[in-house]
Amino acid sequence: MSQLRAADLGLKSVGTLHHNLDYDQLFKHEQDRQEGAVSANGTMMVDTGKFTGRSPKDKYFVQQAPSAANLAWGNINKPVSSEIFDELYAEVTEYLSGKDLYVTDGFCGSNPATRKQVRFITEFAWQSHFVKNMFIRPDAQDLMDFAPNFMVYNASGLTNKNWEKHGLNSEVFVIFNIEKNIAIIGGTWYGGEMKKGIFTMMNYWLPLQNILSMHCSANVGKEGDVCLFFGLSGTGKTTLSTDAARKLIGDDEHGWDADGVFNFEGGCYAKCINLSADSEPEIFAAIKRDALLENVVADADGVIDFSDDSKTENTRVSYPIDHIDNHEPSLKAGHPKNIIFLTCDAFGVLPPVSKLTKEQAMYYFLSGYTAKVAGTERGVTEPQATFSACFGEAFLPLHPTVYGKLLGEKMEVHGVNAYLVNTGWAGGGYGVGQRMSIKATRACINAILDGSINQVEYEQTQFFKLNIPKQLPGVDSSLLNPRNAWADKESFDATAKKLAGMFVQNFKKYLIEGDVDFTQFGPQV
Ligand code: ATP
Ligand code: MN
Repeated sequence: MSQLRAADLGLKSVGTLHHNLDYDQLFKHEQDRQEGAVSANGTMMVDTGKFTGRSPKDKYFVQQAPSAANLAWGNINKPVSSEIFDELYAEVTEYLSGKDLYVTDGFCGSNPATRKQVRFITEFAWQSHFVKNMFIRPDAQDLMDFAPNFMVYNASGLTNKNWEKHGLNSEVFVIFNIEKNIAIIGGTWYGGEMKKGIFTMMNYWLPLQNILSMHCSANVGKEGDVCLFFGLSGTGKTTLSTDAARKLIGDDEHGWDADGVFNFEGGCYAKCINLSADSEPEIFAAIKRDALLENVVADADGVIDFSDDSKTENTRVSYPIDHIDNHEPSLKAGHPKNIIFLTCDAFGVLPPVSKLTKEQAMYYFLSGYTAKVAGTERGVTEPQATFSACFGEAFLPLHPTVYGKLLGEKMEVHGVNAYLVNTGWAGGGYGVGQRMSIKATRACINAILDGSINQVEYEQTQFFKLNIPKQLPGVDSSLLNPRNAWADKESFDATAKKLAGMFVQNFKKYLIEGDVDFTQFGPQV
């Protein structure tokens, strides 16, 4: 059926070319090639090997005109010469030549006017399965007309022996050539490189057309009211946007153009650690045939133990979005009414919910704060603060203020409300307090969505000057003010002060002469 030839892919030759296999074919290939096992309910399970997460330190852009002038060079967007790219590209194509390959065509972006046609070349059936789940699946007619705007060469088994000579970080490489519309990946199997790699490209292309690209999930209520949930990894974008009462637009990557919000993807990528049918029934039910489980542990009968983190904490499942019953088939909706910044504050300092002024929204968006627990040891472990601009700096090729400005303008024009929601610790930091229950967080979010949060009395917190409701339906009032929730008030004040200081320190880099000084809207110490 496939008309595709080796030369179309820039390869000398290929073994068997598996072009756009359907789900059943991929399932069979995965089994025949022993790439994975099948769970008790018929879902494919694979191990992604040594790599169970992305390798951000191995990511580079080719430094060349004209994109070099646009890119925000630094630790996140590191330069590599076009000579090194050409050398590695030649190695990648040499390596892939003659092999049996899986070629998968997908769209990124649900708006036909701005979507990108992306072609992925991979060595494994499961990698094809992964991108088929994550990207928008073209229909038969689309596939006939498919003309790639961008190619991803995934040479998982190829490492760069000359990485030291090249001045790179390791033998793993993920390199983007914007002018040639090619990305090459070597030395890692992890599918997330392809997902977040194309997201990174969207974050390059769209703002240059005055369209905002965002690391957020989105859903829409019965009245057409759209809500965005921004947040770093593990803060709850996927969990909280999957809501039986609202249509899911997408769980991770969106654009916002003159017509409204649109998903980049055609599927979701949910965390599986400690997943339960009780607290996350929709995600639990999405794990069925055509979904793809990564790095989970199952017994001999294929029964999965979702609490088992022995392969990685980052166990995942990818599934096409139609595995969520209540999804929006167009993957689009109008302009947002509410924007929620999610943070998982392991210090237990930030309130479960606060209503932000427009200026505070800009401050917290540029700060992009969350806090992880450093170790997995028992007992008290000091949380690690992360500040990642726009809640996704790792995927932003342009300067964060480009995205900040666009968001500010759009919020202003469309009169959007902004909130900060802490899905992390309450009543004490990690080791003393407890993580907010999903139920309590959902109650805070429901109060935002049904407007009841606007009908209650507010008070202001001390250092952060955040406006917090005194009571909310469905939420234990003693939790709403974090200071009240801590038994040890002195310890709270000291921790709050410490965290406020970290915010202040981090924000110094955004003090641009002549620009608005947003520090006055952040914490004061
Ligand atoms: P990523 O960008 O890596 O996809 P994400 O923002 O989508 O991350 P989720 O996949 O939603 O994050 O992960 C949130 C995790 O935290 C889930 O495993 C969820 O079960 C757990 N969790 C525990 N308490 C809460 C809470 N109060 N709110 C949201 N999630 C919670
Ligand atoms: Mn997610």
